[in-house]
Amino acid sequence: MEQVYIVLRHREIPDIDQYETYVAHGGYEGLRVALEQAPDEVIELVKQSGLRGRGGAGFPAGVKWGFVPKDVFPKYLVCNFAEGEPGTFKDREIAEYNPHQLIEGIIIAAYAIQANTAYIYHRGEFTFAAQQLRRAIAAARAHGWLGEDIQGTGFTLNIYLHPEAGAYICGEETAQLSSIEGHLGQPRLKPPFPATHGLWQKPTVINNVETLTNLPMILRHGAEWYRQWGTERTPGTRVYCVSGHVVRPGNYELPASVTARELIFEHAGGIWKGHRLKAFIPGGMSAPLLTPEHLDVPLTYDDLAAAGSMGGSGGVIVLDDQTDIAWVIAKQVAFYKHESCGKCSPCREGTYWQKMLADRILSGQASRRDVELLKAVSDQMTNTCFCPLGEASRMVVQGAYKYFADELYQWVEERRRAVEPAAV
Ligand code: SF4
Repeated sequence: MEQVYIVLRHREIPDIDQYETYVAHGGYEGLRVALEQAPDEVIELVKQSGLRGRGGAGFPAGVKWGFVPKDVFPKYLVCNFAEGEPGTFKDREIAEYNPHQLIEGIIIAAYAIQANTAYIYHRGEFTFAAQQLRRAIAAARAHGWLGEDIQGTGFTLNIYLHPEAGAYICGEETAQLSSIEGHLGQPRLKPPFPATHGLWQKPTVINNVETLTNLPMILRHGAEWYRQWGTERTPGTRVYCVSGHVVRPGNYELPASVTARELIFEHAGGIWKGHRLKAFIPGGMSAPLLTPEHLDVPLTYDDLAAAGSMGGSGGVIVLDDQTDIAWVIAKQVAFYKHESCGKCSPCREGTYWQKMLADRILSGQASRRDVELLKAVSDQMTNTCFCPLGEASRMVVQGAYKYFADELYQWVEERRRAVEPAAV
């Protein structure tokens, strides 16, 4: 499969971050099409396209918009640009080099749900992206695409940038809303869902950067055009972020039906240094790892779920056969322990115990009992955590045990043999 540039159009069109260049290549035509229709017609078109949220959950965007009540005001749109999932770096490229298409997508989504205020909640470290977005917002406003009475339609929208202070949990949508409101960035109980009780308890839609950036092209070319790629249930393209032990790491925009084999071995150049593939994590670090036997699984949400993992954020992390699973688990659980917001005890305590046991295993001080205990702690966290962060921490451990438990037992026995004589 060839790469198809729907959101990474800057790879084919130099200077598309400039307003004049963007417009010369069809920029703001999708918004013009949207403004000529009723908001419900825009929602229906996006439903027909099958566009699914690219932030992690893969929920259909048009369906999410349809949950917003028509008669409650004000409403809000939030662009989730808190790209913090390890192994994921696509939204940053989109915002830095194709910012107008993102801004146009935000205006389309806001029009569809009739929100007059939109926030871009972005990683505070992404200063260049924020600068590019500010420039794009100013240009759009100067040309009548933002502000009051957009293009004479009577529709008003203002977009504000809101920097995040570095907490991974603020990528979770309800924690993000709390953060924007000025509260501690911790998840809220659902239901009620943000579609009815979001920012300041008003209807709010939260969409990811890649999701929104697809919209201008869908509006311009139609739902059937978008459906020529991907599968019935995951149409279009996805930007897969390939990192780890490959020859050519980077972002690859491909039909969503591409297999891991094609992505890793053809596009990313295969495993580096002549090594062999040991495992890969298909949807950002929070997705359970898969093994070479899964290389022919299409990287869609449903196919990956059937294989025991998930599509998540599209971050594909590749591990070669020189990688110790004990090291991988220790890295993963250290991250979750650090990022746990502390609101619920299964995650707050569970991630602490996961890290302590994983560190002990990695150091060679552990026994087989510690390997069993780490698995037991993760199992006890199942379906008890308040939000997906705690669940992710136990899923990555359980995923590793599913395929590499024998390696962990072998690891502790060999390390103890190496450590014990010196201790005598
Ligand atoms: Fe916070 Fe973890 Fe509980 Fe989520 S699961 S609310 S991150 S403590």
